[in-house]
Amino acid sequence: MKLQTDSIIEKLRQIEAKKIMIQVPDGLKPGVFELFNSLSKEFRIIISSDPFFGACDVGDSVLYNDVDCILQLGHSEIPNIKYPKPVVFVEYKEEKVPEISESLFLELKGKGIRSIGLMFSIQYVDAAEVVKEKLQNMGFNVLVGNNDGRLKYPGQVLGCNYSTGHSIQKDVDCFLLVSTGIFHGLGAQLALPKDVYLLDLNDLTLRNLAPETDRVIRRRYAAIERAMNSRKICIVVDTKIGQKREKLARVLVEQARAADLQPVLIYSNNASPTDYENMRCDAVVFTGCPRVPIDDQDRYSMPILTAPEFRAAIKARSDSRYVMDEIVATD
Ligand code: SF4
Repeated sequence: MKLQTDSIIEKLRQIEAKKIMIQVPDGLKPGVFELFNSLSKEFRIIISSDPFFGACDVGDSVLYNDVDCILQLGHSEIPNIKYPKPVVFVEYKEEKVPEISESLFLELKGKGIRSIGLMFSIQYVDAAEVVKEKLQNMGFNVLVGNNDGRLKYPGQVLGCNYSTGHSIQKDVDCFLLVSTGIFHGLGAQLALPKDVYLLDLNDLTLRNLAPETDRVIRRRYAAIERAMNSRKICIVVDTKIGQKREKLARVLVEQARAADLQPVLIYSNNASPTDYENMRCDAVVFTGCPRVPIDDQDRYSMPILTAPEFRAAIKARSDSRYVMDEIVATD
């Protein structure tokens, strides 16, 4: 990622920032020396080396309370978060779009697909434009869904929000996600009622994610079933600014009590399996990032569930299909 330091400096000047905390994702950390040196000529800079999860996480208040502004690299703003300080987001976009052959999409023609919902993770917004044009040239009807307040762009997805898919799900035959790796695609297939095809720009392949997502869904139902025999439940609020859903957690506490369970409400910044093992709880309900229960269950000895999964376990809801926990807004 090439940083446009001039435009960063301009934004920092506009908000009259003097002291700035910078959050850098691991992949961009080698660039901190150059960035520190160039920004330090005009500003007082501190660099946070703490891991962070994205625009939902502006780090430790001990650090950000002491600065005028946060500079976060690699992510796009989550518009409906009330950040505690001004945050300058420097989005990471892949500068080079690889050669994408139309032959990749012939399979969709063969399946009789006519209308495609196009989505992308933020790095691939430019590649998604190229894909859109190719699909249209091939005669597909391409729709790009509207974003809710947690996403910045139409068509964009986060691992916890697929509103751009929901807004067009009735009008498309399938979805096509431009991304790399399975993270965003798995969430999309869990959340959306139609097949999601992942155009993986790492290896330039197109694959239907429904079969591998089915395996994940089976594992989630196994966790739900194990949780049905639980009594002591830790209901967890993650304190990260863009993951904090205390109101939801309090409703879940009431629902747990109504189901004759013994809940406790826990606040935590970083979920650790050891904490819950020490409490000897039977199950954890995690209201922070929904990807923690889905992707990290293997790290936990007890079932760790999302809110809709917990409601399914206590039979407070019954759905005809798996319901992905999506974050629309935080407290
Ligand atoms: S809550 Fe999870 S999926 Fe959503 S933006 Fe944060 S880290 Fe990503």
